[in-house]
Amino acid sequence: MAYKFVDNYRERGARKKLVEHLKSRGIADLKVLNAIGKIPRHFFFDETFWNQAYKDIAFPIGGGQTISQPYTVAYQTEVLHIKKGDKVLEIGTGSGYQTCVLMELGANVFTIERQESIYQRTIKVLPGMGYHAKFFFGDGSLGISVHAPYDKIIVTAGAPFVPEVLLKQLKIGGILVIPVGNEHAQVMVTVIRVSETDYEKIELDTFRFVPLVGDQAW
Ligand code: SAM
Repeated sequence: MAYKFVDNYRERGARKKLVEHLKSRGIADLKVLNAIGKIPRHFFFDETFWNQAYKDIAFPIGGGQTISQPYTVAYQTEVLHIKKGDKVLEIGTGSGYQTCVLMELGANVFTIERQESIYQRTIKVLPGMGYHAKFFFGDGSLGISVHAPYDKIIVTAGAPFVPEVLLKQLKIGGILVIPVGNEHAQVMVTVIRVSETDYEKIELDTFRFVPLVGDQAW
């Protein structure tokens, strides 16, 4: 609906404040901050809730799922060190906001969602905003092997472990970011593929995501 695509003075001001807030929380990558400063996050909300769109909170998008908190989106994006032209697999499309952030950084995004109602909505909203990602419907815990390997893989739901199958879909030198833990809390884990057989794992801060549900998940 056309009315949704209005980026007025109030929303632009709120977005600037959000960027300042993310800086104060330690997000330092200017390209990530610029992307967040550019994308109208209120387009992902019903107009009734536009006043929530630039708060640093996760927010329900239906189907028991959420649009991730801006800090979490910025954090996961920052640790991926996205370069223009990177081929990125995103598991858990959700609202598509994270997809847009990755695309603003020049990534070629392959994104997969397992809930059909969410998938159907997002494949309409994003192209309407000019973001033409490659959308897939299905269980992303298995990755998308036909399009592998990827420079970067981002999992935007909490997993019980790092799925081996995703590691195999990384290019050598590639980075995976995935929250791993139980239903209450997950540690953000990055894994760098250093060779055909070797991986380097780093554990970062604690977050709380909705669960990754699938064959290689909960
Ligand atoms: N990045 C999203 C955003 O910016 O709105 C947030 C995603 S939300 C926190 C997590 C999403 O992962 C949900 O939409 C959920 O349905 C999806 N999901 C959970 N398990 C999945 C799986 N195995 N494959 C694909 N999507 C999955």
